[in-house]
Amino acid sequence: MGLRLNAHAKINLTLDVLSRRPDGYHEVEMIMQSIALHDTLEMEFEPKEIVLTVSGVRVTAGQDNLVLRAARLLQQQAGPEAGARIHLHKEIPVAAGLAGGSTDAAAALRGLNRLWNLGLGNEQLVKLAAQLGADVSFCLTGGTAVARGIGEILTPLPPAPAFGVVLVKPAFGVSTAAVYRGLDLADLGRRPDTPAMVGALQKGDLDLVARNLCNVLESVTLKLHPELQTIKERLQEAGCRGVLMSGSGPTVFGLTADQKTAGEIARRINLPECRVLAAFMV
Ligand code: ATP
Repeated sequence: MGLRLNAHAKINLTLDVLSRRPDGYHEVEMIMQSIALHDTLEMEFEPKEIVLTVSGVRVTAGQDNLVLRAARLLQQQAGPEAGARIHLHKEIPVAAGLAGGSTDAAAALRGLNRLWNLGLGNEQLVKLAAQLGADVSFCLTGGTAVARGIGEILTPLPPAPAFGVVLVKPAFGVSTAAVYRGLDLADLGRRPDTPAMVGALQKGDLDLVARNLCNVLESVTLKLHPELQTIKERLQEAGCRGVLMSGSGPTVFGLTADQKTAGEIARRINLPECRVLAAFMV
């Protein structure tokens, strides 16, 4: 019998960079939030072989696809007899700051753990996730969480309100490495207040959440792509209550009271050459 899993995208409600580690990674503190936008993975058992097909948003189906990397990692525990036929349908824009690849990898780990009856617990899956990428651990459970370390140390938070989210993904992608290279740790500008954002979410106060949106990578990506400033202003003018870039960008999101309002703004806003999507926090 086959399995079907949803792999949800995330946005960053806050993102702070604390230090640079000797290995080149950065210590971060960020509030991660799953949104309704998701890819879909369908998988069924196949002896020995792992075969991946992809549809939707264009992304490689080759060996560097994170779904295949996750499957191969788990196959080391399952043994060579275990294989799978996996179809990935991509809706999440690629190289967008929405953890598209990471969430697919997390869904592959969750799904194949079941398909191959491995019985691995969350702790074991988190260890494998950390080998695949900093955001994969969060994507295993999703929801709302504070992520520290390089993103793999998670403190779950109570579910946040289902605020609406308007996403704007410009035609270009952004290299996360290039953004971090452009970051001056001695001059990060305004920093997020994590406890204040946690409190705002718990109160369900959208204006307070909006006021606490903060991402120290935003000014770096804005310098590389000044057109993002116009997108931010357009989202604000269109009625979004708070606007921020997600991750290292370039996707910019705007928050609204609910999904319906996000849908109306997404339909109304005219941003040629951008992909505009409506979602909500889950
Ligand atoms: P993050 O927010 O975690 O930094 P992102 O949204 O910026 O991630 P991804 O969409 O995960 O970026 O894509 C980053 C790179 O990963 C791309 O260059 C892409 O080719 C590669 N990649 C490998 N597998 C996948 C996948 N299943 N989906 C999307 N990208 C993938």
